Amino acid sequence: MSVEKNLQHIQEKIIEACKKVNRDPHEIMLIGVTKYTTIEKAEELIQNGVINLGENRDQEFLSKYEVIGNRAEWHFIGTLQSRKVKNIIDKVDYIHSLDRLSLAKEIDKRATKKINCLVQVNVSEEESKHGLKREETIPFIENLAEYQNIRVIGLMTMAPNTDNENILRKVFRDLKKLQEEVQNLGFEHAPCDQLSMGMSNDFEIAIEEGATMIRIGSLLVGEN
Ligand SMILES: *Cc1c(COP(=O)(O)O)cnc(C)c1O
Repeated sequence: MSVEKNLQHIQEKIIEACKKVNRDPHEIMLIGVTKYTTIEKAEELIQNGVINLGENRDQEFLSKYEVIGNRAEWHFIGTLQSRKVKNIIDKVDYIHSLDRLSLAKEIDKRATKKINCLVQVNVSEEESKHGLKREETIPFIENLAEYQNIRVIGLMTMAPNTDNENILRKVFRDLKKLQEEVQNLGFEHAPCDQLSMGMSNDFEIAIEEGATMIRIGSLLVGEN
């Protein structure tokens, strides 16, 4: 299937999911995850209006950035090693994987402007996944106040790899609850109005549960 056809299909699903829960589809930012794919496919996404692109490795990101540059808004969605921060920090628009103070410190040190960050939460507490436990998240965000270049715009999670709708829904619901708790604290450095959750196989449920950013790879560009 072409990118255009895939996109059309996804957009229809976004609209349907929004309709179910009375949300405005414009609230949903579609991030095209290009980590599996070529620069050509990424260009095709941009031509079709998907200008938010997600990458999870610094090398892949940099090689695409070299060609595409600021024609896209770049989302870093993968585990980020502190020593890689300096290579990407002036090129990314969002970091979705902030999960430790040492990383925050390095971002703060290397950035020349405020960086939009999302704190990654391991809601399901799977061993294989990165991110903070739920109960660690608020103290962590409190500690970020001292870093001038970090702005916590939201929370991010990856749901378990399952088709069990109840499990998925519970994970998304728990992240939403946590987001509301952060918002209620009214931290100046952490407006936390974004929820980055939902991928190819679960984005409709994520939207029903409040996602504002969905990260879609395989359904959009294939897995080549
Ligand atoms: C790969 C990846 C995605 C996209 O996954 P798909 O299932 O292909 O849509 C989303 N988020 C993160 C963090 C990823 O690493």
